[in-house]
Amino acid sequence: MIKTDVIIIGAGPVGLFAIHQLGIKGLSCEVIDNLDKAGGQCIELYPDKPIYDIPAVPECSGETLTKNLIKQIKPFKSNFHLNERVQEIKKKSENEWEVVTNKNKNFRAPSIIIAGGVGSFEPRKLNLKDLEKFEEKSVFYSVRDKNKFKNKKISIFGGGDSALDWSLELSKNSKITLIHRRNEFRGAPHTISELKELEKKGKISIKTPFQINKVNEGEKLESISIISDDGKVEQIQTDVILGFFGLIMKLGPIAEWGLNMSSKTIDVNTYNFETNKKGIFAVGDICNYPGKLKLILSGFHEVALASVECFKRARPNEKYRFQFTTSSKEIQERLGVIKK
Ligand code: FAD
Repeated sequence: MIKTDVIIIGAGPVGLFAIHQLGIKGLSCEVIDNLDKAGGQCIELYPDKPIYDIPAVPECSGETLTKNLIKQIKPFKSNFHLNERVQEIKKKSENEWEVVTNKNKNFRAPSIIIAGGVGSFEPRKLNLKDLEKFEEKSVFYSVRDKNKFKNKKISIFGGGDSALDWSLELSKNSKITLIHRRNEFRGAPHTISELKELEKKGKISIKTPFQINKVNEGEKLESISIISDDGKVEQIQTDVILGFFGLIMKLGPIAEWGLNMSSKTIDVNTYNFETNKKGIFAVGDICNYPGKLKLILSGFHEVALASVECFKRARPNEKYRFQFTTSSKEIQERLGVIKK
C-alpha cells in the first residue's frame, strides 16, 4: 500500500499542473492514469494541433504543452502509475481515503484530486467474446514494449496509422498479417506504398476486406479465422493479435463513487472545488459548477485553489501561508532554484 499526501486521478494537463501546485506547497502525490502516457486529451487527441489560449504562450501544440508541464513538475516528488484505472474509492477514516486500481494497487491519502477529464480513454476492442480470455497474454490493443513481439506470427487488425506503422515496424522481426475490413487504408500514403512493396516481396500479408470470425479453442492462441464480406473464410496461424481501432472515452468507474453528478460531470463548490465528499476534489473537464468552461486555463485555476485545502488536510497542525513564487525562499528551495 502506498501512502501519500494527495492521490491524483488523471494525468491530463490539469492533473499535471496539480502536481506543481501541491509541490510548491511541499506536498507529495501519486498520479494514476489509464493511458500509457501523461497528457490526457492534449496528447491523445490533438498532439500536433496548435493551442492559442494558454496565458503568456501565444501558440503551442498539445504535445509541447504536455512536455512543458512535465518539465515544470520535475523538481517535485510524484510517482506516475500509468496503464492503471482507478476502480474504487473507499473512506478509511475522517482524514483518510483509499484508492484501488484495476491492477489491485492500493493508495492512501487524506485527499484525492479527480482530474479525470471526460473519463478514461479505453481502446476500442475486437468484437469477439472468445478473445477476452487471451487479453494481455496474446491479444493487445497497444504496444508498450516492441521487444515482446519479436519472432512471432502476428495478426494486426485496423486500417489507420497505428495499424500500418506497427505492421511496418514489427515486420522487421516477425511474420505479419495485416487485416482490415475495408479495401482502403486511412494511413499516410507513403506508409501504404511501403506496405504494398513488402507485400510484393512476400514479407507481409495483407487481407482486405476481412474481419475476425473465430479463434481456436483452448488456453493458448494458435490460429484465427477471418471472413470477408462475401463469406470467404481463411485460417491464419497466429500467436499474437494486435488491434488498433482508436480510443473511446468512457466515464467509467467515476460514476460509482457516490459523488453528486450532473450529466457526466462532478458537482463541486467554487471555493476549493471540493465535491460532496470531504477531501475529494474534482478539477478540469470532469468538474461542474455554474459558469464552468472546459478550458485548460480554468483547470489550472481550479487546482491552485483545491491544493490549498489539500495542504490543510495533509498538515492539520500547520498554518497555510500564501506565498509568491517570485519572493518565497521556501518555494524556490522546493523548486531547486536556490540551495537549502
Ligand atoms: P483530460 O485531458 O481529459 O485528462 C484526463 C485523464 O484522466 C485522461 O488521461 C484519462 O485517461 C484519465 N482518467 C479518467 N478516468 C480515470 C480513471 N478512473 N482512472 C485512471 N485515469 C483516469 N482547451 C483549451 O483550453 N484550449 C484549446 O485550444 C483546446 N483545444 C482542444 C482541441 C480538441 C480537439 C479537444 C478535444 C480539446 C481541446 N481543448 C482545448 C480542451 C482541453 O483539451 C481540455 O479542457 C483538457 O484536456 C482538460 O484537461 P483534464 O486534465 O481535465 O482532462
